Amino acid sequence: MRRRRFWGWGWEDAGPTDDHARAIGALLAARLGHVAGALAPVPALDAIDLPPPRLTVPRTLAAPSSQTAYDRAGHTYGKSFRDIVRGLHGDFRRAPDVVAFPSTEGELVDLLVWCAGAQVVASPYGGGSSVVGGVEAPASGAHRGVVSIDLGRLDRVLEVDRTSRAARIQGGVLGPALEDQLRPHGLTLRHFPQSFEFSTLGGWIATRSGGHYATLYTHIDDFVEGLRVVTPSGVVETRRLPGSGAGPSPDRLFIGSEGTLGIVVDAWMRLQDRPTFRAAASVTFETFAAGAAAARAIAQAGLYPSNCRLLDPGEAFTSGAGSGTEAVLLVAFESADHPLDAWMGRALECARDHGGRVPDGAGRTIATDEGARDGAAGAWRRTFLDAPYLRDALVRLGMISETFETAVTWDRFAEFHAEVTNATQKALQSVCGSGQVTCRFTHVYPDGPAPYYTVMGPARPGAQLEQWAEIKTAAAEAILRFGGTITHHHAVGRDHRPWYDRQRPDLFATALRAAKRALDPHGVLNPGVLIDP
Ligand SMILES: Cc1cc2nc3c(=O)[nH]c(=O)nc-3n(C[C@H](O)[C@H](O)[C@H](O)COP(=O)(O)OP(=O)(O)OC[C@H]3O[C@@H](n4cnc5c(N)ncnc54)[C@H](O)[C@@H]3O)c2cc1C
Repeated sequence: MRRRRFWGWGWEDAGPTDDHARAIGALLAARLGHVAGALAPVPALDAIDLPPPRLTVPRTLAAPSSQTAYDRAGHTYGKSFRDIVRGLHGDFRRAPDVVAFPSTEGELVDLLVWCAGAQVVASPYGGGSSVVGGVEAPASGAHRGVVSIDLGRLDRVLEVDRTSRAARIQGGVLGPALEDQLRPHGLTLRHFPQSFEFSTLGGWIATRSGGHYATLYTHIDDFVEGLRVVTPSGVVETRRLPGSGAGPSPDRLFIGSEGTLGIVVDAWMRLQDRPTFRAAASVTFETFAAGAAAARAIAQAGLYPSNCRLLDPGEAFTSGAGSGTEAVLLVAFESADHPLDAWMGRALECARDHGGRVPDGAGRTIATDEGARDGAAGAWRRTFLDAPYLRDALVRLGMISETFETAVTWDRFAEFHAEVTNATQKALQSVCGSGQVTCRFTHVYPDGPAPYYTVMGPARPGAQLEQWAEIKTAAAEAILRFGGTITHHHAVGRDHRPWYDRQRPDLFATALRAAKRALDPHGVLNPGVLIDP
């Protein structure tokens, strides 16, 4: 059976071969001005040390559980750079004691009740693609052990309401299986984070993930119609409504709660008809600033393109979407209802107003899947999907390769971007001696962009984690100082706590703690994530 890597991204049998990884390393090293390192071997499961399990799940509980090395190691970390480094080097000190696989709501309820009574940490695990320390065990605490609750068996679309265009979907379903089950109904959720293949609906809701829509429906929040959440204090079910003004939204309490208040067992999600019209164009700009001005004009024109991703020259080069001397704006529209020429025409006019160069004939509405993904947009998309496998290879080559993301209002953007880039570049230079910081916009709003930065540089052998920590701290401090958010869509987890705690209002934290005490009185759900008790 095809297996996922226990230490890194994706399938064991996918990603670049060792020779390919070395060739990529040599190319990148030449570009970044250093000598490529040797390729570290991948860890062997039988060679890793796992701490002896402190507990087992009682036989009286119906949910199957496992203590195999593969399951425990595979549920130890998420998929951030730190996680890949630790996994690659066989550091599985934080392995959960046991992994449970509930396949019904009843089994999940029983598990949570047992965890609460036995003072055992319950760590919900969707696809395990967290990049903020959201699925790993707490470093210490009063608990007696850790159960990773793998929700992968709660993977079905339970009901479809074609009239309202919504479906009730279980929280553990991975992206591709979710879309496969909606396809026969002619419907789609159309929420495609880069981690789509290995992340789940419940994980998206718990982390407020950002999908491929660059405008309008940016976060999963916009698609949630109602929720069913299992908490140690009982089950909460919210009412399905297209909108409601009845007080603060109960859905919004759980959306983004990162598994600290309860486990999303299923959700009614707003769906869409599958698009049949697509239009895409890539526009080049002499500078990133000119591209940003165009992106702002498009975002403020009320056109709502599905894609409006601005790549700086370095990012465009790395992804094969540009020559490395120009910024590239990828603009796309999609619809199940109408041709898109008018919208695209106006968006390209906005781009030209800011010096954008539009290839002849670009942006025509096409009624098939292929056409809209040709050229720069197609190259960017392929690189986008392969990037996580490539990142594993770069870690094996001893490099630092990580991203961070944020959002800021347009009035602050120019200064913000200059300061964040500068602080990150300086730290990178100081700890690695060379390297590059590139930027793209993943989402744009009428009042500001969501810039996403990629950092790459050569690390000292054995010092990858400390070096990255220094760079990340410099970047995060600049983000906070110049008015951004510590995360636009990657969530808070444990890794962003030092900055999130300063960003959120204190009284709000008090209210959130009170909610946590009401829903999880023994504090067993993800302690240390998002908030302390
Ligand atoms: C290569 C890569 C690309 C990524 N691209 C994107 C992107 O485009 N957009 C984006 O937003 N994020 C992205 N991420 C981050 C990550 O994929 C998201 O945070 C995603 O939403 C996590 O989903 P998951 O199912 O993997 O959750 P997990 O990683 O399993 O869990 C995330 C958090 O949610 C909790 N949780 C999981 N399931 C549930 C549930 N059913 N109920 C309650 N709590 C739960 C966990 O305890 C944990 O704290 C990316 C990550 C990687 C590695």
